[in-house]
Amino acid sequence: MENSLQSLRDKVAACDKCPLCATRTNTVFGVGVETAKVMLVGEGPGEQEDLRGEPFVGRAGELLDRMLLAAGFSRSTNVYIANIVKCRPPRNRDPAPDETQACLPYLREQFKLIRPGYVVCLGRVAAQQLIAPDFKVTKSHGEFVLKNGVLFMGTYHPAALLRNPNNKPDAFDDLLKLRDKIAIDS
Ligand code: URA
Ligand code: SF4
Repeated sequence: MENSLQSLRDKVAACDKCPLCATRTNTVFGVGVETAKVMLVGEGPGEQEDLRGEPFVGRAGELLDRMLLAAGFSRSTNVYIANIVKCRPPRNRDPAPDETQACLPYLREQFKLIRPGYVVCLGRVAAQQLIAPDFKVTKSHGEFVLKNGVLFMGTYHPAALLRNPNNKPDAFDDLLKLRDKIAIDS
């Protein structure tokens, strides 16, 4: 059977819509359960992700996986993970506005095909793009915002948690809040 996510993945693999195509090793489309209720969105691939073609497989990804597991989530059972941009920004800089705008339609297509009820934005870049342009993680992490029938939440980026472990308990609380919210809603 034709799989629309697979054809979208193929389209992304051949994409040259923004300058990031020139420096990538691999496109990083997404990973996880294609019918998941929960989608996590990061900002863009880092070095390991670019080399392997999978999101969150470096040190930050290991931390993310451990936190997810402790809250009852994993990429192999109940979440789907993607990024705002599918190609690595050089030296892990923030994606530029033209790159974000060029790539966002792919994420929107992923939302349409996966139809998550909950979207967790990992870090400022994703939260400002998907929740509010002035989103402050320290101020608004863990708050649910309903948009077009989907509940969005922003939380700390796992790479930020590696730099500042003091915020780990707050970030973990956000995941527990999500777990509890899903249980109440279903
Ligand atoms: N950071 C991100 O935002 N996304 C990844 O996939 C890896 C690190
Ligand atoms: Fe295409 Fe997105 Fe990669 Fe830019 S970042 S080349 S828009 S897939």
